[in-house]
Amino acid sequence: MRLLPRAAMAGAIAAATIAATLVSAPVAQADPAGLTLIASNQSLLGVHELYAQTYAGHPVLGGFYARHTDRETGAVTIQDGRLTVGKLDLGKARVSGDRAATAETKARGHAFRTDIVVVPGDNATLAYAVLSQDATGEYRTVVDTDSGSVLRVDELSDHVDGHGKVFEPNPVATLQNTTLTDQNNKDYAALSGAYKSVTLKNLNGTGKLDGSFANNISASEVKNNTNTFNYNRSQAGFEQVMAYYSITSAQSYIQSLGFTSVNNEAQDFKTTGLTDDNSFYSPSADSITFGTGGVDDAEDAEVIWHEYGHAIQDAQVPGFGSSNEAGAMGEGFGDWFAVMMSIPNNPDTVKTPLACVADWDAVSYASGTPKCLRRVDGTKVYPGDVENEVHADGEIWSRALWDVYKGLGRDQAVKVVLEAQFSYAPNTSFAAAATVTVNTARRLYGASAATVCQNAFHARGIL
Ligand SMILES: [Zn+2]
Repeated sequence: MRLLPRAAMAGAIAAATIAATLVSAPVAQADPAGLTLIASNQSLLGVHELYAQTYAGHPVLGGFYARHTDRETGAVTIQDGRLTVGKLDLGKARVSGDRAATAETKARGHAFRTDIVVVPGDNATLAYAVLSQDATGEYRTVVDTDSGSVLRVDELSDHVDGHGKVFEPNPVATLQNTTLTDQNNKDYAALSGAYKSVTLKNLNGTGKLDGSFANNISASEVKNNTNTFNYNRSQAGFEQVMAYYSITSAQSYIQSLGFTSVNNEAQDFKTTGLTDDNSFYSPSADSITFGTGGVDDAEDAEVIWHEYGHAIQDAQVPGFGSSNEAGAMGEGFGDWFAVMMSIPNNPDTVKTPLACVADWDAVSYASGTPKCLRRVDGTKVYPGDVENEVHADGEIWSRALWDVYKGLGRDQAVKVVLEAQFSYAPNTSFAAAATVTVNTARRLYGASAATVCQNAFHARGIL
């Protein structure tokens, strides 16, 4: 009897609808034809043999047969999970396995194994079972060998959903209230309407805020065995939930646009240890640190997304920002990306304009109304307004990207900018990067999109 790799077969069985018939009496069926032994386990009381159902040598998806032999009595118990394989044309295979693996699993990451299987039924089908992995897990895509169509996709890995409370993006925008203040990190009544219960996705199930896209390295890392993380802003766990949730949302959005390698990793973050009213991304450690001065920085999702913007650029172009203008583009992109992420939950009102970045974090240090860390709809023009300070000069770049968003809409604008950034040199200039961006827009969406970008950069004196 041939022993198949257990992982491949166990997956097939796990996905089956368990329609096993339990036969309690000893059975005389000594020769399970069309079965392949995949496990023979010894326990204290018995021997447990698990077979995969096969047909013409190919595993039948979901079909199994198990034999349990009692050590003491010799009694045999059978679980017969074999499925009907009716009419099946074994000669039909117009699609190659390679094609099935590359074409059909593109959206599900890297295909690493392809097996021919039988999809059971009265009219059974020969299919490729393509195993692939991406950062979200492992998948089996079942592709008809004849038509090439995808019959089904099974997720073989488990991810855990948790629950928690967050601000999204922040209390000032949510409550449309520009008079809120930090009050020394207190949780006070006027803020209660800003808390939102959310699902924390892609957790790894350890009870910590660690998952596919975000990894909590805070000194006092919170833990909850049922993955329930309900804190208020005065508690250290709140900022950890905010960072986990906001980073995971950002990477999920990026992947929804089709990008599978824009910082597609568990991004390290810490929300404790820095008492300044500042946050930073460390390229050498590939980690984000959020300060707790003033309003804790990680209480404002837009600050989180700004810092994640730096992580994105460093993942796309390691060492990005080695010239003054590239550094300014890093800041400008971070501000703009924060605003793009904020769109679904940030009403664009006179009180809290969408273009105002981090209007909650800013209550501790900004003046005027509304209070903003910076804005992405300013009027600065190159080169006259250059101050040789990356955050200030970043407002030239972010305004250009804001106009790209106004012209193309959120998804197209983010796609163009992320795609273009892969081709920026680490020490690029505004003009060189703008040219790449215009060309990228043309390739992705045609001449009119390129014109939107051209006009946006022209209005800033860049092109
Ligand atoms: Zn920055």
